Amino acid sequence: MLLTVLGCSGSVPGPNAASSGYLLEADGFLLGVELGSGTLAALQAVRDPFALDALLFSHLHADHCADFPSLTVYRRYHPRPTRDPRANRLPVHAPRAAPQRFAGAYATDAEELAVTDLSDVFDFRPLAVGTFHIGPFEVTATTAAHPCDAYSFRIDHGGRSLVYTGDTGMSAAVVALAEGADVVLAEASWAHGGGPIPDLHLSGREAGELAAAAGAGRLLVTHIPPWTDRATVLAEAAAAFPGEVVAVEQGAAYAL
Ligand SMILES: [Zn+2]
Ligand SMILES: [Zn+2]
Repeated sequence: MLLTVLGCSGSVPGPNAASSGYLLEADGFLLGVELGSGTLAALQAVRDPFALDALLFSHLHADHCADFPSLTVYRRYHPRPTRDPRANRLPVHAPRAAPQRFAGAYATDAEELAVTDLSDVFDFRPLAVGTFHIGPFEVTATTAAHPCDAYSFRIDHGGRSLVYTGDTGMSAAVVALAEGADVVLAEASWAHGGGPIPDLHLSGREAGELAAAAGAGRLLVTHIPPWTDRATVLAEAAAAFPGEVVAVEQGAAYAL
């Protein structure tokens, strides 16, 4: 599996930094994970957006899906003469509310919303806890500790496993999901201490503790907001996890 980071700024985009967005590729199958602000631009810099085979969303906060209306325009109106988007609907694995959420983000007012239907270009598939397949990937979803319909994912392929926390507070379910994973891609939204808010985000220390408790092989830290000190979060994670710890960077690719 190859992981490419389209954006990794947490909660909001930063200076020249897109919000959450990733590409996961194996066996020629290209899975987009999240589509936060700025990621459609980043995607076009590295791949043809029509090369996407499916999309997967952990939850519907704007920093994870704000570029969806732009992708809708791209797939509907791109003048490529040989492509009929209606014959090539993109599978979108997302929380149940996605069709309404994305239609609301696309339409300009209530009148337009009443007639907005994105099913001409997208094939929405609601997420549920459990295991399912997307192309060559086996995906296991569990509920994340986050104040909306939100999921963490374990993605297995070819004997390798990636766990992506999405946005979550510390939770036994996410630790169990990550058990023995080769790579954990964990959010770390703040430094530890200073009045923890439960069931929202991980600190750098908690990201490290999660990976350590799961016995993971490698920890990739992501979703660091522009107002959070990156070095502090990374040092916290490294102190709590004995293996390799890397803060991912936009545009970088990681062989898993
Ligand atoms: Zn987020
Ligand atoms: Zn969120």
